[in-house]
Amino acid sequence: MNKKTIEDVEVRGKKVLVRCDFNVPQDSEGNITDDTRIRGALPTIKYLMANGAKVILMSHLGRPKGVGYEKKYSLKPVADRLSQLLNSNVYFAEDGDVVGENAKKISAGLKDGEVMLLENLRFVKGETKNDKEFAKKLASLGELYVNDAFGTAHRAHASTAGVAEYLPAVAGYLIEKEISVMGKALNNPDRPLIAILGGAKVSDKIGVINNLLEKVDKLIIGGGMAYTFVKAMGMEVGKSLLEADKIDYAKEMIEKAKSKGVKLLLPVDTVVAKEFKADAEHSVVDINSIPADAMGLDIGPKTIELFEKELKGAKTVIWNGPMGVFEMPAFAVGTRAIAKALSEIDGTTIIGGGDSASAVKQLGYADKMTHISTGGGASLEFLEGRELPGIAALNDK
Ligand code: ADP
Ligand code: MG
Repeated sequence: MNKKTIEDVEVRGKKVLVRCDFNVPQDSEGNITDDTRIRGALPTIKYLMANGAKVILMSHLGRPKGVGYEKKYSLKPVADRLSQLLNSNVYFAEDGDVVGENAKKISAGLKDGEVMLLENLRFVKGETKNDKEFAKKLASLGELYVNDAFGTAHRAHASTAGVAEYLPAVAGYLIEKEISVMGKALNNPDRPLIAILGGAKVSDKIGVINNLLEKVDKLIIGGGMAYTFVKAMGMEVGKSLLEADKIDYAKEMIEKAKSKGVKLLLPVDTVVAKEFKADAEHSVVDINSIPADAMGLDIGPKTIELFEKELKGAKTVIWNGPMGVFEMPAFAVGTRAIAKALSEIDGTTIIGGGDSASAVKQLGYADKMTHISTGGGASLEFLEGRELPGIAALNDK
């Protein structure tokens, strides 16, 4: 990786401003229902504490209006959970204007190894506008900036990009892992490199398909987006998810794969139902025999066998997009089979995309993968080959 990390700079005695992704799910009473993201930030925070930094954490949570304090979006519950996880007090600066009285007072009094958390960055409109004045205010609290929030790295906000103009800026462990694993897979992979794409829509993945076709040895397409490709091949798809305005694009990509020598694999059979319902009656049909009144909701058994065979011997696999409507158990079979196939691969396996990550976790294969990206949108933009503003802003080695 060509960006500096926390290990490349002196942190002892310094006020270190760390952008985390504490955007955790909560129930209606504000209880945190999944603290994975808080746990994900612990390695960076613990390193900074152990090395005598004064740690000032910041994050957004949800979508507040940007006009000051809103209890519903306060980071107070995160501060409490973080205190428990660190087994150490985390000071919380309860300021509606984020860099307010409390934040200034607490940060000025921090001792080496102590930790504080600022209030929700998005209480201030300037955050998402990447406002210079707000970025300067944030920067005024610290002497060094660390970005460890991969999930927002694709956004140029005051806390992800703007602040880096006023402080030395380095990557935390989470971001470092994301860009080293995914960067290697895209730029210098162990081959064969195979991408599996699925999920809902071609239109969400235009840039991903296009960029991956430049890199991979094989491209496997399943999920909802496959039917637009099936249609592009001249077959009928009934009531399956179809983006009529993307058929030409699909044809272009089929041609591109040919000209690049990339083996492109589409489903050969599919599980169809007449209704989009968990308990809908379903059956398997060949891909060229989808009835006019039915929709494909999962890949079929022959397709599973084909994809499994094509995955054998892969040295790097990038997977984005479930193979079917995995939220309904009857249509999770294909996604589960692919997750299992990946778990048996002797090589690097990378999961990108929000729903793909939850599918792999839900199906129990999370710990069998090399890397599950922590940022849905950010990982997609990374796979598109785009430079993420939150990473571009960090200092080069
Ligand atoms: P990711 O978040 O991993 O990038 P997407 O958001 O593109 O993935 O796609 C996930 C969604 O795609 C899931 O909600 C899943 O139900 C849906 N999906 C997968 N296959 C189909 C299908 N055949 N028909 C309709 N929806 C599908
Ligand atoms: Mg999604």
